[in-house]
Amino acid sequence: MNAILLCGRDPGPLTAQQAHRAMQVHLECAVDTCRSRRRARATLVEQKRMVLDERAQQVSGS
Ligand SMILES: [Zn+2]
Repeated sequence: MNAILLCGRDPGPLTAQQAHRAMQVHLECAVDTCRSRRRARATLVEQKRMVLDERAQQVSGS
């Protein structure tokens, strides 16, 4: 669980909640050097994309 606190280690798949927390913890880190921040950002982008996809499907379905 505390893997998101470490910069040099990829924490693996995160929930949206964990990703938000990691982004706060690593707020001043660079994505180039901080693997936790990179993972958190990728997770949030992925989550947003999923939400957008759901909306798009609803629009096109109706
Ligand atoms: Zn960091």
